[in-house]
Amino acid sequence: MEFAKFVVNPNGSCRLCTKPDDEANMVQCDDCDRWFHQTCAGLKRLPEAHEPYLCVKCALINDQLRKKAETKHRPAEVRTDVPDLLERLVEALNARGNNQHAKRAALMKLPEFEGSARDWPRFKRTFEETTRQGEYSDLENLHRLQQAMKGSAERVVRPLMLDAANVGAIMA
Ligand SMILES: [Zn+2]
Ligand SMILES: [Zn+2]
Repeated sequence: MEFAKFVVNPNGSCRLCTKPDDEANMVQCDDCDRWFHQTCAGLKRLPEAHEPYLCVKCALINDQLRKKAETKHRPAEVRTDVPDLLERLVEALNARGNNQHAKRAALMKLPEFEGSARDWPRFKRTFEETTRQGEYSDLENLHRLQQAMKGSAERVVRPLMLDAANVGAIMA
């Protein structure tokens, strides 16, 4: 935001023009105590006694200080969110109970797949069904595929194995 430069006014106290004071229509900045004509300050009317007034310069500085304070506080807010997130995660895991836990552990290991076209449909079906039952994340599935893929299958998918987001591409 551009603001008008303050001027030295030899005729009066307004710092935005060089005209003499118009006694009834002068306004003073609460921060820097400079005086302005009401019209020079861009005000439609004089502020009431209880209404604060900041000149363009002080309003801008105020705004920047406020933004700075906000960005400073942001990391702290994120930090307070982390324990909350962990708490909810632990809650969700506990809610599933030991049965689900055992089920997931049992389903985790996929049959080995060596890349033969004949075995592929069965392997894919097993992968999809266990993923549904065990509710595995992409990362877990990546780990499961890394364990299962052997031989030529492993060589084909190796470049894709770097990112959990590629699980979909591997199984496509
Ligand atoms: Zn003026
Ligand atoms: Zn001011």
